Amino acid sequence: MSANAPDVAIVGGGIVGCALAAFLAEDGATVRLYERDEVAAGASGRNSGLLQHPMDEALAGVFAASSAFYAELGHGFELPAQSVGILVVSEDPASLEPTRADLAARFPELGAEALDAATLHEAEPALAEGLAAFLLDTGLPVPPAAATQAFAARARTAGAELSVGVAATPVIEGGRATGVHTATGTEPAGAVVVAAGPWTSALVDPTGAWRPIAPLWGVNVELRLVRPPRHSLEEGGIQDLPHANSGLDPLFSLVTRGGVSALGSTFLAEQPEPTEVAPALIARGARFVPALEGTHVVSVRACARPLSADGRPLLGPLPGVEGLFVAAGHGPWGVSLGPGSARLVADAVLGRPHITPELAAARFAPVA
Ligand SMILES: Cc1cc2nc3c(=O)[nH]c(=O)nc-3n(C[C@H](O)[C@H](O)[C@H](O)COP(=O)(O)OP(=O)(O)OC[C@H]3O[C@@H](n4cnc5c(N)ncnc54)[C@H](O)[C@@H]3O)c2cc1C
Repeated sequence: MSANAPDVAIVGGGIVGCALAAFLAEDGATVRLYERDEVAAGASGRNSGLLQHPMDEALAGVFAASSAFYAELGHGFELPAQSVGILVVSEDPASLEPTRADLAARFPELGAEALDAATLHEAEPALAEGLAAFLLDTGLPVPPAAATQAFAARARTAGAELSVGVAATPVIEGGRATGVHTATGTEPAGAVVVAAGPWTSALVDPTGAWRPIAPLWGVNVELRLVRPPRHSLEEGGIQDLPHANSGLDPLFSLVTRGGVSALGSTFLAEQPEPTEVAPALIARGARFVPALEGTHVVSVRACARPLSADGRPLLGPLPGVEGLFVAAGHGPWGVSLGPGSARLVADAVLGRPHITPELAAARFAPVA
């Protein structure tokens, strides 16, 4: 290893990679992060912008840790003081109640509370008549790229070097990760962390044999409603969809921050042309918020959720390759969970492993 070799090379400048770079550099590691495009170029800069409690018990601790990191992040990042609440809505009351009861039992802290028609209308006049709904006490809307940009700034402040516009692939020799390849050559590193979102599997194993993380594409339509909803809104059943496969009709979701509402959601295996998907999203959304029909569209964008085979992130070392770590696979909750996951992986890199088995990257078959 050359004298100026980074201790740790991180591949990927999304929320996970940037938070990792900050934590590792603050703990004294020499860090170089490689981002092939620009910081937050992937879903970390194009998501719906809602920090929310994940609907998976195994992830609650990571979410709590992330929330604490966001509260003290600074570097231009502002956390709203209070959650806006998520209103889960449905045209079918009978199908909604089991979902509410299930969430109420599993996550009592979210206070899943059914609303009668009059209360619902008063709480959210933007909604169509005749819907059923329950309210979850979670949801902090933030600008989509804000958290990642703030962690990137914090990483630079702590001395990490961010090589932006530089694609990198791990170098694995004799059963250990020894650095990364870039267009200009090989750069040695004591450890390599792949935090490349949906592109992680292909970087770890170019043969295609190891594929625990796949892209699940979504499209966001941004609009400026005259009277935007006060809550974040989502259609009942949306929490189950990421585990299903592609080709489904969109389900409705709407997150509003700073007067701009982000309308979703699609769950597609192939990268879509966003403008082709937008009309279906608007049509679906108008069933719930009629004013969406005919509202001026500000922007339309696609991005990919890094979805793992069991819906949970892959964190920590990969058995069989010394010095190779993974931090990816956060699916629909990566911004909400990213800093907590990054802390766990940073600790593992620094020799302080405390990743639970259900989140450990090692639970998937090692690379051959
Ligand atoms: C439509 C949509 C809405 C969402 N809304 C929310 C939400 O409201 N709340 C929430 O918590 N989560 C949300 N998510 C999920 C969240 O955005 C992701 O889970 C999260 O951003 C993933 O972060 P990441 O750092 O793992 O990956 P990414 O953001 O994908 O970052 C990976 C980076 O790696 C880079 N890269 C890839 N290959 C290389 C290479 N060879 N060399 C160098 N760099 C490379 C990419 O350019 C990219 O910048 C949403 C996702 C989608 C698709």
